[in-house]
Amino acid sequence: MFQTSIAGSLPKPAWLAETNKLWPKWHAEGSELQQAKADATLLWIKEQEDAGLDIIGDGEQARQHFVHGFVEHVEGIDFEHKVTMGIRNNRYDAQVPQVVAPLRLKGRVHAFEAQLARAHTKKKLKFTLPGPMTIVDTVADRFYGDKVRMAMAFAELLNQEALALQADGVDIIQFDEPAFNVYMKDAADWGVKALEVAARGLTCTTAVHICYGYGIKANVDWKNTLGNEWRQYEEIFPALAKSSIDQVSLECFHSHVPPHLMKLLEGKDVMVGVIDVASDTIETPEEIADTIGTALQFVARDKLFPCTNCGLAPMSREVAVKKLEALAKGAALARERYK
Ligand SMILES: [Zn+2]
Repeated sequence: MFQTSIAGSLPKPAWLAETNKLWPKWHAEGSELQQAKADATLLWIKEQEDAGLDIIGDGEQARQHFVHGFVEHVEGIDFEHKVTMGIRNNRYDAQVPQVVAPLRLKGRVHAFEAQLARAHTKKKLKFTLPGPMTIVDTVADRFYGDKVRMAMAFAELLNQEALALQADGVDIIQFDEPAFNVYMKDAADWGVKALEVAARGLTCTTAVHICYGYGIKANVDWKNTLGNEWRQYEEIFPALAKSSIDQVSLECFHSHVPPHLMKLLEGKDVMVGVIDVASDTIETPEEIADTIGTALQFVARDKLFPCTNCGLAPMSREVAVKKLEALAKGAALARERYK
């Protein structure tokens, strides 16, 4: 009961890449970089296990950013000539590559780190991929001329990699769709369908993570404009509840999401965010158990998975380790409290 995991990303050690950044520059090249990525992946598997988490991830140590880490392996994209584009409905500008030709995978995307992680933990392994709608919102289209067509093209490629990850022994494949909370109507109209294409044929557990973004300033400023009640989930959860996706990861602690919206996900596993990624303050086990208690009013106990609100990538390593420990301790306290 109350199996714990992180949303996905963890900070990169200072010897691997720049710290406290969302798009950090690598500190090595070629085979040295590959070795450094492997070392960082192993380090975080150990830290997650030592903290006492139940489901382990690779911490996204082998990719610069959760979207571009996938897109770099796709043919038909021009990475040489990036353009500045407002993303997440112009919340912030990013340097994005351009889609210039039909999309095709160059080969495996995440085989290296998935197989490495699988070989080094006996616990359940979760692996994250960007969702089709979020990818479409993070690249510039100079070829398809139609968002939905391009999303479906990316969904086919994601499906190809997801099936291969499953064959690598991954237990849970999670698609990250922060864009769902920005384009709610599109998410309900076609975003969930694209997600189902990406997850087609998978027999492992499938999940989607929908958050209000990393704890960076642009996101914190945006959250301050959303008012006292964040009801974005209300528009997308009904479509997700009807979908084939098994689990939904959502933001809860310190958010203004009305907790009763979790009820809209009846029948699904719910990964409840009990750790704030926008604050360096470490949650107490009591606070975490309280959040779990609130969620229990709307989610069945065997369907509740305590998680972080989002990835921990832009945080300091020390804070991230303490937050992992807090997550495990809080879940342990909740198991005692809500027996
Ligand atoms: Zn997130």
